[in-house]
Amino acid sequence: MSRIVVLGAGVCGLASAMMLARDGHDVLVLERNPARVPDTPDEAWTRWERQGVTQFRLAHFLLPAGRAVLETELPETIASLSAAGAARISQMANMPPTLADRAARAGDERFVTLTARRPVLEQVVAALAQQHTGLKVRRGVAVTGVTSKSRGTTPHITGVRLDSSEEISADLVVDAMGRRSRLPQWLRQLGARPVHEESEDSGFTYYQRTFRSDDGTLPEIIAPIGSPIGTIFLVTLPADNGTWAVVIATSSGDQPLKRLRDPRVWTSVIDACPLHRHWLDGEPITGVEAMGGLIDQRRRFAPGGEPVATGIAAVADAWACTNPSLGRGMTYGLRHAQRLRDTVREHLQDPDAFARAWDQVTETELRPFYEDTVAENRLRREEIDALRRGVAPPKPDSRTARFLAAVPHDPDVFRTYLETRAGLATIRDVVSRPALMERIAQLNFPAPVPLPGPNRSQLLELIANGTAERVTGMTGYRV
Ligand SMILES: Cc1cc2nc3c(=O)[nH]c(=O)nc-3n(C[C@H](O)[C@H](O)[C@H](O)COP(=O)(O)OP(=O)(O)OC[C@H]3O[C@@H](n4cnc5c(N)ncnc54)[C@H](O)[C@@H]3O)c2cc1C
Repeated sequence: MSRIVVLGAGVCGLASAMMLARDGHDVLVLERNPARVPDTPDEAWTRWERQGVTQFRLAHFLLPAGRAVLETELPETIASLSAAGAARISQMANMPPTLADRAARAGDERFVTLTARRPVLEQVVAALAQQHTGLKVRRGVAVTGVTSKSRGTTPHITGVRLDSSEEISADLVVDAMGRRSRLPQWLRQLGARPVHEESEDSGFTYYQRTFRSDDGTLPEIIAPIGSPIGTIFLVTLPADNGTWAVVIATSSGDQPLKRLRDPRVWTSVIDACPLHRHWLDGEPITGVEAMGGLIDQRRRFAPGGEPVATGIAAVADAWACTNPSLGRGMTYGLRHAQRLRDTVREHLQDPDAFARAWDQVTETELRPFYEDTVAENRLRREEIDALRRGVAPPKPDSRTARFLAAVPHDPDVFRTYLETRAGLATIRDVVSRPALMERIAQLNFPAPVPLPGPNRSQLLELIANGTAERVTGMTGYRV
């Protein structure tokens, strides 16, 4: 049995801790935020103060691949989420109207998820972690550095230092401190080589609002959960207990759209989108919340395969984060946590082998998902920026373009696309499948029909006056 200290009690830190404790390790979680875990989902939404997690009350969706990790590794979270009112949603509900074969098939259950507002999901996980055997969570303690017996180019981390100057020793320190983790700086202070870091502003700003129905029901899903509509991108996210979030994503440089902070302007834009306006049919339980300045960031703790330190592992957002329009952060973080547990099983007794294996797992299994997300978001933003300037938008590579265009016209291609929306596969992966591309080559289908909603000039009119010529069409499906 080893002593493992996990830094940060976010969803992924706690999930890592529970998986490790389940293997018989003695696990301690250290969390800076002092607030106690609320007793109920309602209290979590209304009263839980989680300074340091800026996105805490913003829209979150757990993808099917994240649900699958919880179901396999921590099945009690699934039962508790259901009891807390989490929504059970199948991404098959997104089926394009153009598909004639609408019958369910074996395997469709891989597109099912269980999702909730972030405070509710975290309350469920935190309450279970609190009672977990072999696991202790200390809240209200900020970690200020890592300790090592030796200074030098590859220090071996032996524990952490707290703001109270207390030192805690560990066989392994897991960094789950999220996107603002200062671990790279702490390692530098011990003389370690620099961690490789890459970071860019995602270029998106999000304007979102959360709603609740009076009878616990959720709006019908009749358009993709992420819907490109001209120079905006709409995201509609079902959540727990008859609540849901609606998000308008814009290019950060789009000055006129900053008026979306005004609830009347925001409402008029959603109301102009025929397949989305019914998501307004509820009581708003927040104002319009704006968030920008979100980065895509990735770190490598073994640049060129050579670890900068041993005895330490960064997991989830502390390793990499992306802007959230595809809702992938928690899902990839949970998968990373699962693979951390596997790597600990195999290599914990040999710190150098562990550091190399953890780098290998992260680079080969997780990094492709990070790159896929960044590439897709970049293309989306470039498309929006081109449409704003009135020039032809850039196209994805020809295989990807053909794959995406075929999605509304073939049930197998649609399901393959859902694999990429569920967090199960990358687009690069699926367009490399010869059988899929051969099938698409045999299909005849028309060019994609845009989803109905305001074009650029109608959008600007709405932003300026709150009204525009009414958009009425109910057809269109593009991804
Ligand atoms: C606007 C927005 C919307 C998002 N929407 C989605 C979505 O729909 N679906 C999805 O899957 N993901 C989404 N994400 C991403 C998701 O929020 C993250 O991937 C997820 O929170 C990562 O969890 P984590 O446990 O790694 O880190 P965090 O949740 O950030 O937790 C880090 C923890 O570390 C603690 N901590 C930090 N420093 C210290 C310290 N020095 N000492 C002790 N403790 C410390 C913090 O207090 C915090 O509790 C979204 C992100 C944003 C910004």
